[in-house]
Amino acid sequence: MPENINVLVPITYVYKNRVGQFIESYIKGLSQKKILGVKCPKCKKVYVPPRSVCGKCFSHLDKLVEVSQEGILENFTVGHVTIDNGELKDAPPYILGVIKLKKADSTITAIVKGVEPKDAKSGLAVRAVWKEPPEDNLSSLDHFEIIRPSAKKRGR
Ligand SMILES: [Zn+2]
Repeated sequence: MPENINVLVPITYVYKNRVGQFIESYIKGLSQKKILGVKCPKCKKVYVPPRSVCGKCFSHLDKLVEVSQEGILENFTVGHVTIDNGELKDAPPYILGVIKLKKADSTITAIVKGVEPKDAKSGLAVRAVWKEPPEDNLSSLDHFEIIRPSAKKRGR
């Protein structure tokens, strides 16, 4: 009877994916250090990144707008691992933030620097930091940095 042998085989997949016109516009904006959203013609909500249908009133969306590069850290988690070439590895603690940019009604997720994870809190003001030179992909928006404690009252 043959013996069962377990072999770990690392597999890397490289593939191209058509992202659609809105994400394509978003990436082109990032390559020019602009953060683009789309504004609903009916209820005026602004979504970042852009999408084709309003989540509130279901209107068709097609009007791209530039939003601010500054916003508020709405929420966050602290990461302790990273993925390096498909492998999970330990990493120094870092902040993964949920950010609401000025002039936007939705949030985006990004790495936040400039504050120790133990001192991070919701309501801090942040601004975009760009990769130099920016590239034609999502990583042009490198991370957000804390600019000052926000005066926003959270009521808690
Ligand atoms: Zn709408």
